[in-house]
Amino acid sequence: MATATPVRTAARPQIRQTQLFIGGQWVPARSGKTFVTINPATEEPIADVAEGDAADVEAAVRAAREAFDNGPWPRMDARARGRLIHRLCDLIEAEIDELAALESLDNGKPVNDSRLIDIPLAVQCLRYYAGWADKIHGSTIPIDGNYLCYTRREPVGVAGQIIPWNVPILMVAWKWGPALAAGCTIVMKPAEQTPLTCLRLARLAQKAGIPDGVINVVPGYGPTAGASIVKHPGIDKVAFTGSGETAQIIMRQASDTLKRLTFELGGKSPNIVFADADMAAAAAGAHVGIYLNPGQCCCAGSRLFVEDSIHDAFVERVVESSRKRRVGDPFDPATEQGPQVDKAQFDKIMGYIEAGKREGARCAVGGGRVGARGYFIEPTVFTHVEDGMAIAREEIFGPVLSVLRFSDVDDLIRRANATSFGLAAAVWTRDVARAHDVARRLRAGTVWVNCYDVFDAAAPFGGFKQSGFGRELGERGLDPYLESKTVTVSLDPPRGR
Ligand code: ADP
Repeated sequence: MATATPVRTAARPQIRQTQLFIGGQWVPARSGKTFVTINPATEEPIADVAEGDAADVEAAVRAAREAFDNGPWPRMDARARGRLIHRLCDLIEAEIDELAALESLDNGKPVNDSRLIDIPLAVQCLRYYAGWADKIHGSTIPIDGNYLCYTRREPVGVAGQIIPWNVPILMVAWKWGPALAAGCTIVMKPAEQTPLTCLRLARLAQKAGIPDGVINVVPGYGPTAGASIVKHPGIDKVAFTGSGETAQIIMRQASDTLKRLTFELGGKSPNIVFADADMAAAAAGAHVGIYLNPGQCCCAGSRLFVEDSIHDAFVERVVESSRKRRVGDPFDPATEQGPQVDKAQFDKIMGYIEAGKREGARCAVGGGRVGARGYFIEPTVFTHVEDGMAIAREEIFGPVLSVLRFSDVDDLIRRANATSFGLAAAVWTRDVARAHDVARRLRAGTVWVNCYDVFDAAAPFGGFKQSGFGRELGERGLDPYLESKTVTVSLDPPRGR
């Protein structure tokens, strides 16, 4: 993360790529259709983007298949593949200001978040997997009899990758990194809310020398472009990040072709603060845990469990820091929180805030819109929340924190686990034994102890239960992009005639 210096003056970026990227060519949609991408801070249009559908996915799959079945990518020296991924990273770093501005324009996140968090993490991820390219190999197995038995790890083929709008550049890196290292080729659909940086990264990949057809990008809508990727028999595997409802549709539609699937879905993550915790650190963790990317994180710490004896004092800290949070123009370097991504998300979150009030929770701070234009929502904390309320059970995906009390550890674990989600959790305590005990008993793919939202490309991430299956990042993140082939060779000498 050496390149991370804050932006002081953020220029508006130029919009360079708005067409589909198929087989190394920039092309309009076959239908001629476009859709508009909106700036969530102003509600104004940014650009018209080519709207791909089944015919365009067909062309993209053809290009990706050709690149996989006959092209150089899966056949070149693994180390050379790694070098090309590193070169892509060099180009990203050289353009970091422009990319950060483009991300913030399309998604609404503060430009310093794009520049200091999202892009450095994306580069870290791509470089991590560049390093894996020449370290993927099988093993020899001592089977019975006179045989040489070994395994090969081969790329799964053409990967269909469907990503959401909350961290667009980072999602591209999480998906491209392991796929490229493994030698797969790619058909990606960015989210309709945020297609611009994915297209820019495709341009940089081409400039880096990644062969045409290896990466194809088809912006468009889920039920058309997305569903076509899911159903296409020429795609071997689908990696999806998004909502559980969409994952259910994808799972059903992928069943006809028995596609390999990996899902990274939603969460309602418990963030647990014991009375012996470092109060200042835990309060800062609660703040970041819910407000990062204004709650539009699958791992947001949206259920804050606070031990009875410190409840009131702790809530006061969290309310105070919520009140001070600077919400506003993503291009103002002082801004800590931008708008939600679009009107649909804004309305959904405001609906949950209303539901919280209606069901009897107490809104301790926030609860309203900020300004009259743009999808800005106040940092919001609810106290007196009961486990059965909608704001305690459902993923809000916004800056809305539900505070729950606890006193007994066993009961706490039961309540923390009483959800169909299982993506992340955190525990704050100075008691080492308790920290490890609680970490073991929580049913979640990631547990942070005395920290929150610590991500590293080397550490696997993914869900238990309905938060998904398969893991991204780390060595485990390669598995979904690899097949294992067993080769068994008879070592009996050839019999003479
Ligand atoms: P969110 O509610 O966070 O927008 P979605 O699951 O709706 O989550 O969207 C995540 C991604 O999935 C987006 O790229 C979206 O276009 C895509 N998508 C939505 N519906 C479908 C579908 N039926 N098939 C494939 N992809 C879809």
